[in-house]
Parts: sequence; C-alpha cells; structure tokens
Amino acid sequence: MSAGLYAVLATATEGAGPSGVSDYIAQASYLVASILFILGLRSLTRPADARLGMQQAAFGMLFAVIGTLLNHEIITYQWIIIGLVIGAAAGYPMAMKIQMTAMPQFIAFSHAFGAIAATLVGIVEYRHAYGAAGDALQPGLSHGTAAALGFEVLFGALTVTGSFMAFGKLQELITGRPITFKGQNALNLLLMAVAFGSFSWLVMHPEAAWAFYAMVGLALFLGISMVLPIGGGDMPVVVSLLNSYAGLAAAATGFAIGNNVLIIAGALEGAGGFILSMMMSKAMNRSFGNVIFGAFGAAPTSSAKKDGVAKESKTISTEDAALQMAYAGSVVIIPGYGMAVAQAQHVCRELMELIEKKGGDVKYAIHPVAGRMPGHLNVILSEAGIDYGTLLTDVDDANRVLQTADVAIIIGANDIVNPDAEEDKGSPLYGMPIFRPWTAKTCYVIKRGKGTGFSGVENPLFFRDNTLMLYGDAKSVLGSLVKEVKALDEGH
Ligand code: NDP
Repeated sequence: MSAGLYAVLATATEGAGPSGVSDYIAQASYLVASILFILGLRSLTRPADARLGMQQAAFGMLFAVIGTLLNHEIITYQWIIIGLVIGAAAGYPMAMKIQMTAMPQFIAFSHAFGAIAATLVGIVEYRHAYGAAGDALQPGLSHGTAAALGFEVLFGALTVTGSFMAFGKLQELITGRPITFKGQNALNLLLMAVAFGSFSWLVMHPEAAWAFYAMVGLALFLGISMVLPIGGGDMPVVVSLLNSYAGLAAAATGFAIGNNVLIIAGALEGAGGFILSMMMSKAMNRSFGNVIFGAFGAAPTSSAKKDGVAKESKTISTEDAALQMAYAGSVVIIPGYGMAVAQAQHVCRELMELIEKKGGDVKYAIHPVAGRMPGHLNVILSEAGIDYGTLLTDVDDANRVLQTADVAIIIGANDIVNPDAEEDKGSPLYGMPIFRPWTAKTCYVIKRGKGTGFSGVENPLFFRDNTLMLYGDAKSVLGSLVKEVKALDEGH
C-alpha cells in the first residue's frame, strides 16, 4: 500500500512541519488518507466489502499523493512528473493484464519496487546528513534518525532481493523448490547477527558510514539467502512476510523524513502483513521458524508410488456422475487453484443451484491456502454471487461436514486434499491441515490429467477406492454435468 508513496516522497526533503497554507492542506490530506487506509483494511476483512475496501484504499492513496505533492519543500516537479508518468505507464497495463492466478508473483514484484524506493530514500537521506563528499557528520543526524534510517535500509534492502527471489520462484524463472546446502541456516544466522551488529553500531555511532553500507550489502544478500531454502506451499507465507517488512521499512522512512502518512501506512502494512503471515502459518500448522528454516517442499516423494507400482485411478462418465450428484442429500464442493484457472465459478454455482433444487444441501469447503493467494477462492466464489453462508472456511468444521456427506466434489484442487499431509511423514506436505474428502461416501475429482499440485507431489487420494476421476478442464466438465442434470429433469 505504502510502496507507491516512496517514489513521490523520494524527491521531497525531510522534516516538514506545516509552514504555510499548502502544508496545512497536506496534513489534512494525510489525515483523510490515513482514515481511508484504515477503513479500507476494515472493509477487506469482509469478502462482500472487499471491492469497497480496495476503492477506499485507492482513494486514500490519492489523498496521500496529493498531500505529498503539496509539500512546500519540493523545489521542482519535473522529476516527480517524469516518475509518475513512467510509473503509471508501467503499472496500469500490468495491473489490467495480470491474471488472478499470477497475483502472488505480481505482489512480490511490486513489493520489490516499493522496497527499492525505501532503500534509496534511506541511502539519500543518510548521504544528505553525512555530507555528499563523506565529510565529517553534519549536525542533525541524531541517534534516533540513524536508527530509523538503519532500520529502513535493513528491511528495505532485504525486501528488495527477497521479493525478487520470491517473484522468480513463483514465476518459475528459477525452481520453486527449496534450494538448500549444508550449513545454510548457520550462515543465515551469522549474516543476520552481523547485519544487526552493524545496525547497533550505527545507532551508537551515526557517523560510521561503513556500518551503514555494510548493513545495506548484508541485507541484500540476506534477502536472497533467506528465500532460497523456502519453497512449495510456504511461498505465500514468505510473500506476506516480505509485505510486512516493506511496511516496516515504510514506517521507518516516515520517522526518518518526518512524514506522518508513511508512518501510519507503513505500520498498517507491517502489522497487516505480519498478522496474515501468522494466520497462514497457523493454517498450515507450521511455526514461523519452521517456515524460514524448514526447507518446506524439499523432497517430492509420494505414497502413491511408494510400493514402486504406479497405481491406476478410476474414472467415471459425466452422465453417471451427474445422476449421483443430482440425488445426493449433502454435497461438499472443494475448489482449488484449477477452478480459478478455468474460471469455472459461474457454472459451478449453476450446478449447485440444480442440486439444491432437487433438495440437496451444498456447502463449499475453502482451504486457507487454496489457490495462489490468501482469499483467492473466496474472491472467485464471491464473483459468482455464491452466498457466504454456504462457505466452510475452518478445516476442522469442513472435515466434520465431510464425514456425513454423500458426495465431495473436488474442483481443480490437489495439495489441500492430499492425505500424505496426515499420513506420510516423508511428504513435504506433512503437517499441513487438509480436507478429508475420502470420508464422504463418494469423492469426485475434476482435473485435466495427472498433473501434480503446487508442491509437485503425487496425490494418493486419486487412487482411493471411493474416488472417481472426471478428467477435463473444470469449466467444461462442470458444464457437461449441468447439462446432464438438466437432462434428468427433462426426462431424457
Ligand atoms: P494445487 O496447485 O495443489 O492443484 C491445482 C490442481 O488443479 C492441479 O493438480 C491441476 O491438475 C488442476 N488444474 C489446473 N488447471 C485446471 C483446469 N483448467 N481445470 C481443472 N483442473 C485444473 O491447488 P490447491 O488449491 O489444491 O492448493 C494450493 C497450493 O498452492 C498449496 O500448495 C498452497 O500452499 C500453494 N500456494 C498457495 C498460495 C495462497 O496464498 N493461497 C500462494 C502460493 C502457493 P491438472 O494439471 O491435472 O489439471
């Protein structure tokens, strides 16, 4: 959220207390912006108001940018306008064209740019205070400002390279699996210790430029080395953690240059990202330490092939499946990433309505890490106008409902229904809470073929006795099921 402000702020200078009408207007704009950011975050907690939340936050950003442009210390608008034009020309088409399924890497990419801006502002501010030619420290760089600038560049630089690494992994420019080597955790801990040591030294001796630049270099390196061993299903946690770091860097920038809206927006982003990371770790039954140092997703083994024999899954025709689904008393639909790819949410609602018309009860089980971003499937289903009352968002609750369900329909989901997460200690998914669709009487799986999920492991669920596969693109399979159920009504 605060990333967009950096570029504008980079050209404004520090310490602006109101010193004219325009500055009072600027402070008022910051106040309105801050209120809108808070309202936006609040609205985002309710899926039905999420769109409104985004609009509130966007208007908040508009007020923040206007307020910043009114800063009396801006000498010339030339570079600001150039920056705004380049930023808008690059950002607008990217935001319009990006597929929902590519959002995590897009978010990581934009964090990297916000963090670059924060780091550069920090470096420029330090050079200002220090004197461009490396003279003796000029008066004005207090221990407090040194701490704020140090914190800003430490978290900013770490976020730059960490976010680019996360982008590369999610975009599959480099392997999405953890890259590990012997002594990696020890090396990371050592780097962290030296970086924080340099930070402490800088706070005590603000004139120690070597400590400042050493910290920048170490943080850049740390960003890479900390994201290297993370992979698989832990990537969303990492992206949201980096989001939190970017927010902390923004808040520190606010302290360093005396900008209130940056402090507030940065604190909101820092806290929001941190809370989200904690919630996601909890949902995956993993501690933070385990996410950072656990090399999740390392070994792509699978119980499906453990005995060395490739098992066969059973298939069913859409005609037969439609017959069973139409007369089921209770149905649980488990949508996953494939549903989002296929954009099958509308036809899925149609099927749901047909089953309900025949007296069946339909619920949706939404896993916290289904899809490719937090709330991905909630957004998709909301787009199709599916009532929130039908969503089961707690894994335990959903599993209770599944136990007595007649039918479970898995639509383009894989990792979130992989029994190895509970049964195979060697699986990289082990420990992640998952849905148990196999406890329903019959379990249908809609997917295109034998593709694995995000973590790259096989799924033994597809070979269980009561699992029936419906191969094909989710939208077209669901379309055929709808057609078949309608045909039953028409007595064909
Ligand atoms: P998965 O990625 O595990 O599985 C998706 C399945 O959908 C694939 O097996 C694929 O099989 C199938 N599929 C793909 N396209 C289609 C299509 N057009 N029609 C039908 N099926 C299709 O998804 P899940 O939602 O189960 O799990 C999410 C995973 O992503 C977790 O591991 C999670 O940790 C991770 N993740 C989550 C993020 C988040 O914030 N939610 C962010 C980043 C990662 P086939 O190719 O055979 O069709």
